[in-house]
Amino acid sequence: MFNNSLKDRLITLLGRENVLDSIEELSCYAYDSFLEESLPEIVVLPKSTTEVAAVVEIAATNKIALTARGAGTSVCGAPIPVKRGIVLCFSKMNKVLEINTRDRYAVVEPGVINGDLQKKLAPLGFFYPPDPGSIMISTIGGNVALNAGGPRCLKYGVTMDYVLGMEVVLPSGKIINLGSKNIKDVTGYKLSALFCGSEGTLGLITKIILRITPQPETARTVLVTFADLDNTAKAVSEIIGSGILPVAMELMDSITIREIENTLNLGLDTEAAGTLLIEVDGTAETCRREMGRIVEKVNDYGALSLQEAATSAEREELWKARRFAYPVFAKIGPDIITEDVTVPISKVPAMIAKIREILNAHDIRAGILAHAGDGNMHPLIPVDKSDTEQMKRVNQAIEEIFAAAVPFEGTLSGEHGIGLAKAEFLPLVLDDNTREFMSVIKKAVDPDNLFNPGKFV
Ligand SMILES: Cc1cc2nc3c(=O)[nH]c(=O)nc-3n(C[C@H](O)[C@H](O)[C@H](O)COP(=O)(O)OP(=O)(O)OC[C@H]3O[C@@H](n4cnc5c(N)ncnc54)[C@H](O)[C@@H]3O)c2cc1C
Repeated sequence: MFNNSLKDRLITLLGRENVLDSIEELSCYAYDSFLEESLPEIVVLPKSTTEVAAVVEIAATNKIALTARGAGTSVCGAPIPVKRGIVLCFSKMNKVLEINTRDRYAVVEPGVINGDLQKKLAPLGFFYPPDPGSIMISTIGGNVALNAGGPRCLKYGVTMDYVLGMEVVLPSGKIINLGSKNIKDVTGYKLSALFCGSEGTLGLITKIILRITPQPETARTVLVTFADLDNTAKAVSEIIGSGILPVAMELMDSITIREIENTLNLGLDTEAAGTLLIEVDGTAETCRREMGRIVEKVNDYGALSLQEAATSAEREELWKARRFAYPVFAKIGPDIITEDVTVPISKVPAMIAKIREILNAHDIRAGILAHAGDGNMHPLIPVDKSDTEQMKRVNQAIEEIFAAAVPFEGTLSGEHGIGLAKAEFLPLVLDDNTREFMSVIKKAVDPDNLFNPGKFV
């Protein structure tokens, strides 16, 4: 239990302004972008690794639960402090410590906003590829702890592919350094990978070394509409199967298109059953060649219309519909569930059909959005969490969607993580031995189960 003497120790350690304990302050850290809430007993805002280690030492000695938090944009309940205790928020550890373009890395504190790093890299002709939709608000620490993806991960890979190394404070209070600034480094176990997607259950990431990449010479973007959703999805696997690797291939179904158009009036074709937003990058010649082949393929699958951006402003306009899909559906709510089921690319057409069938069977009006090029589907389900009858139908549908992914050799989450939302479904895709191995790691690192307890391990 937390008490006043522990609070006083934290205040002495961090300063009064970095220890939050009023009900108004605590309630800001009780939720993320999922449906549940749990009030922490105290929130701390450390400014250095030394301060983080000292807070961990207090939590460990007094056996108090400790949950890390970045920006709280998780959509699976990962940063919700279900066992209360301390929330340690990294918002004040937000410095870009080093950018080295010659050696192609950046060193950042975990509270750096992904978009802020991009703003520093762009004038140098570089970028950091992982681009979750929350890019302008989510932190690199949260991105690493959830192994975040995003539209351009189709070509460039996910967060883990860009983590060269990290500094971590363990539940024991010890500080360890994993990986290095080297692009290649095979020195022992690749432990930094273990922390990618660990959702704050194994350690607190206090510094991250990221691989950065030169910006491509140019990009071309096209919005294609189809009369048939199945053909929209089939065009995706046909393009990938033919050896072209676009930066992004984002699919939206008719319900998604209509809801976005109703809210934003972008001039989208509301008669289309499906749209694909496709982007290629590279040299002008590569883009010309690849886009030419993509146009042939989408025409083979009965494309109704094809709109190519001629300028970067037009490109932004084409991306606008995709970027606003989440907020548009979140407004219908008042709450929203964003699912994240993922299957091998060739199974996308069948899985999309299955998702639509399940949603219809439970009378649920939801959009389907997909990073279709990497098999990652996001049914956007507006809900009212106080409506128990509706929630029962939605939970049943979600369970059926997960179960439907299994025969396709799919998985529960492509990028959003497990958190609270999917913990109970882990046995669908991870066998007993695998889950036991995860528990063995957790118990070895955090024997008192203090770091983000009540989650998937
Ligand atoms: C509008 C919107 C769009 C989104 N689009 C995408 C998308 O395209 N792709 C995608 O992958 N996700 C997406 N997400 C989900 C979410 O933004 C990401 O998962 C993001 O990576 C979370 O970062 P955060 O800083 O908000 O972390 P939080 O939500 O604060 O925390 C996430 C998890 O990381 C842990 N954590 C945070 N910091 C640390 C640290 N320093 N050390 C150890 N553990 C830590 C927390 O305990 C928690 O378990 C989206 C969310 C929204 C709201």
